[in-house]
Amino acid sequence: MTNTSNSRVAIVTGAARGIGAATATRLAADGHAVAVLDLDENACGDTVEQITGAGGRAIAVGADVSDSTQVTAAVDRVAAQLGPPVLLVNNAGVIRDNLLFKMTEDDWDTVMGVHLRGAFLMSRAAQVHMTEARYGRIVNLSSSSALGNRGQANYSAAKAGLQGFTKTLAIELGPFGVTVNAVAPGFIVTEMTAATAARMKLDFETFQKGAAEQIPVRRVGRPEDVAHTISFLMSEGAGFVSGQVVYVAGGPLS
Ligand code: NAP
Repeated sequence: MTNTSNSRVAIVTGAARGIGAATATRLAADGHAVAVLDLDENACGDTVEQITGAGGRAIAVGADVSDSTQVTAAVDRVAAQLGPPVLLVNNAGVIRDNLLFKMTEDDWDTVMGVHLRGAFLMSRAAQVHMTEARYGRIVNLSSSSALGNRGQANYSAAKAGLQGFTKTLAIELGPFGVTVNAVAPGFIVTEMTAATAARMKLDFETFQKGAAEQIPVRRVGRPEDVAHTISFLMSEGAGFVSGQVVYVAGGPLS
């Protein structure tokens, strides 16, 4: 734990692993109590143990972010057990990649449901606590794929949609002391990119090496790179930064 003076309550969705787990751990190290939310409550155990083992406060919460009843119950439970959640990271994500002519309606709806509907439902439920507290921070996970990526029409549309969602919430919630920003990672080593390598029938190491050669800083990203940026946007001192999209991609993107 590095600081408890500005301790608040955070919810990180999709925090059982990957970027979400690194973000939950980082926010706990920043001094916040963290609700580690994922589809399967049991899967959150490792992240919770990592936080509590380091002296932090965390609970595991099982919920599907695309289900409004589950979202309401989850946010209510966090408020009852940890206190009003005024920090929210909409990180839960799935991919259902395919070229347009092969993409099914289910592939489309699933991706929209988790990324867009999920961020909408979680933000709508959590903003009640933020506006009441006259303080809040929301970070939405966009992606470099928002700029276009072959085989990801659904994911790209959802991640671009999250940028518009972010800017609109920043306008609506700003008067209540709530900032809303998006972080758009490039290539980050997680199970999601491992699944992409598998779909392309590439060895994951080879896939990472090829990606690193195209990135100006000549390496692929780690979950901690994204968590560090989110930590800044979640901080009290970042209160004049809102409606922004920060690319965490080892170089500029156009
Ligand atoms: P990941 O390793 O696949 O982890 C995503 C987590 O979200 C999983 O634990 C997953 O649970 C959970 N999840 C999926 N659907 C959910 C739902 N409906 N409700 C609650 N939780 C759900 O992914 P990641 O690479 O860490 O990515 C995290 C975020 O960053 C995503 O939004 C992703 O799109 C974005 N991003 C990642 C990269 C990258 O290179 N990795 C780049 C740009 C953006 P299950 O395991 O049970 O499905």
